Amino acid sequence: MRIAIANFSHESNTFAAKPTVLDDFAIYRGQAVVDHYTPTFHEVAGYIAGAEEYDFDLVPTLGANATPAGPLTRDTYETIVGELLEMLRQAKGLDGLLLALHGAMVAEDFPQADGETVRRVRQLMGPDFPIVVTHDYHGNVPESLARDANALIIYKTNPHIDQRERGLQAAELLARTVRGEVKPVSAIAKPNVLFNIAFHNTSLPPMQPIMQAAIDLENEPGILAASVAAGYQYADVPAMGPSVVVVADGDRDLAQAGAQRIADMIWAVRDQLLPDLPNAAEAVHQAMQAAQTPVALFDMGDNIGGGSAADSTLILEQLLAQKAGGWVVTLFDPEAVQACVQAGIGGAVALRVGGKTDATHGPTLSIGGRVRTLHSGEFEETERRHGGGRYFNQGLTAVVEVNRSGPGKGGLLVLNSKRTAPMSIHQITCVGIQPQQQKILVAKGTVAPRAAYAPVCAQIIQVDTGGACAINRSPSEFKRARTDFYEWQKR
Ligand SMILES: [Zn+2]
Repeated sequence: MRIAIANFSHESNTFAAKPTVLDDFAIYRGQAVVDHYTPTFHEVAGYIAGAEEYDFDLVPTLGANATPAGPLTRDTYETIVGELLEMLRQAKGLDGLLLALHGAMVAEDFPQADGETVRRVRQLMGPDFPIVVTHDYHGNVPESLARDANALIIYKTNPHIDQRERGLQAAELLARTVRGEVKPVSAIAKPNVLFNIAFHNTSLPPMQPIMQAAIDLENEPGILAASVAAGYQYADVPAMGPSVVVVADGDRDLAQAGAQRIADMIWAVRDQLLPDLPNAAEAVHQAMQAAQTPVALFDMGDNIGGGSAADSTLILEQLLAQKAGGWVVTLFDPEAVQACVQAGIGGAVALRVGGKTDATHGPTLSIGGRVRTLHSGEFEETERRHGGGRYFNQGLTAVVEVNRSGPGKGGLLVLNSKRTAPMSIHQITCVGIQPQQQKILVAKGTVAPRAAYAPVCAQIIQVDTGGACAINRSPSEFKRARTDFYEWQKR
């Protein structure tokens, strides 16, 4: 059985200032796809494991991934999707395709770009060609995608730690489809709630019982897969919001009834979905009073994994104003890194840091300190963490001691040269910081950094900050999304 695999993934934030261009993508081709993903927990690693398990003749095509940011330019989308289609065209005698797409990609001409990609693949390969797609839990799924793919399987965890299992599940479903053992048919239901990202943790109510119901449904007779996408509220597109996708064996009514049952559960919790979280000043105050440390402050507005700037100073500003001690803040600021390189290790620096990407991520701050260390910025994560990655590179990195008059006084500013979401604690351990010896660790994210920070922190506080991923954006800022979300009617 000749099975092609591909990954073309991006989470595109339509409120982010910086568009995503070709250079932002890491692209692997052919055997390099296998080499890159095999040692990871990504769903493509699950596809590859499935190839072994189900005896595929594996045809690796393209693997393309970029850090979340603004929508893809026209050239970027057309170049990558064009290459993928060309590879599929040239791979003769294919029996099926496993296709990893994020689900929240936005391109200049195609707001629901993943739907467009599947449409083009379907058009090229014909109506009878089996295509199983996997999505991130933050996908905004259009009805057309559920129709154009034979089956869609979505991560069931947030932080996303089951990607490899979902890839393996997709491989099994594709194998059974190609062998003619099952005939997958899909149904989708989209409940009329926004389901704020503050409530996306799959280990806590209100989402935990909903996800459990999907897991239970998957074990019912006739059901091949049952998935819940929580949606991605930073891509202003018509399909924005949660989706339930159920795949049944030949019985579309059964799939639709299952999808509707879970969608009704989402509707039933609609009054529990209005976040009430501390702002930066309140959260810093709480963290300074905490009996047990370290406390992690999650900067939700500057959620790098959600496409934001990575240089917000809104929490740092409060740490300085309230004279907190023992803190660690990481900022993307290549210019400040270069100033630290000029000063050298041990050198005194007077820096202007952060708030340089746009006007929504806090002011640029004047900081005095001493360069503690300089690093290449490479690190490895061998544990199962959000995103499933293994090898990371945050670029040339400087650690600056700020107001460090004694142990536990002042803090450490980690300045890096590449926007890097805090998915691994080794982002700071690799630059010589011991997390357990600190009092306050600032991580720029909403739920995803939990997998990395919960093991080393006594407490995690989600902080309602401004930025490209602000959690309480006004409905008037949306142009393409539906306007009748239940929560928006309540405002
Ligand atoms: Zn996600």
